[in-house]
Amino acid sequence: MKCARPVFFTAAIATLVALGGIAHAAEEKDPTGYTDTPPLPNSPWRVHDDKRPRPRVVTPGTPSSEDHPGKAPSDATILFDGTNLDAWQSDKGGVAGWKVEHGYMQVVDGAGDIATKQTFGDYQLHVEFAEPSPPVGNSQGRGNSGVFLAGLYEVQVLDSYDNLTYADGQASAIYGQSPPQVNASRPPGEWQTYDIVFNAPRFSDGKVTSSGFVTVFHNGVLTQNHTALLGPSVHHALPTWKPHDLNMPLKLQDHHLPVRFRNIWIRPLTDQ
Ligand code: MG
Repeated sequence: MKCARPVFFTAAIATLVALGGIAHAAEEKDPTGYTDTPPLPNSPWRVHDDKRPRPRVVTPGTPSSEDHPGKAPSDATILFDGTNLDAWQSDKGGVAGWKVEHGYMQVVDGAGDIATKQTFGDYQLHVEFAEPSPPVGNSQGRGNSGVFLAGLYEVQVLDSYDNLTYADGQASAIYGQSPPQVNASRPPGEWQTYDIVFNAPRFSDGKVTSSGFVTVFHNGVLTQNHTALLGPSVHHALPTWKPHDLNMPLKLQDHHLPVRFRNIWIRPLTDQ
């Protein structure tokens, strides 16, 4: 028994050395980073820098079907999960007066715009909406609502399926400024998606220093490609910049028509 221990340890050490050798060989074959590469321009990091922090892990969500809303990514803030308006209030303050039923919220005519209680700066936003079916009205009178980024910059919500209106007022337009690249609308009654990237405007000394930019995918189709904002959305007039905080509420518009929303989530962009 006395000599068994040294033999055991010798074997164990030999195994560890061998494993270490394999690991080292694997490292050499598939290095996880480099220290001998050129520095990237305007960056503290080298090409393939071994010291560069790896992105944090996010569990992706799932897509929606017509009958079931999908799941948000693991790090998203849920703004509406189909059950209540706890994350929202009236734009004027007080309770959000929209109807919640069957897993969606619906505009109540006269209840007014609703705004998130929380404020946000730059973000990725997912919104789903369904237009009234059968359709009623024409042009801007058909299924009008809106997603107001920072509460000021409107990504238009409209029933633009076989419904002529001015180009910068149809669905997924930056209202009054920039038409969508294409009309990717689904028929009324069907659930539609907006996936939006918003880089908020910046201001200094009362003046705009960065206009802010909006990217929109409407039903998965690119409709706004890093579009520069001209100012807050207005009707029948040119926008004028008004300085505001970086973090602002998100707003949904009561345009007096029973548009529905579901599955709204947001991911503040903090990893840039
Ligand atoms: Mg609108």
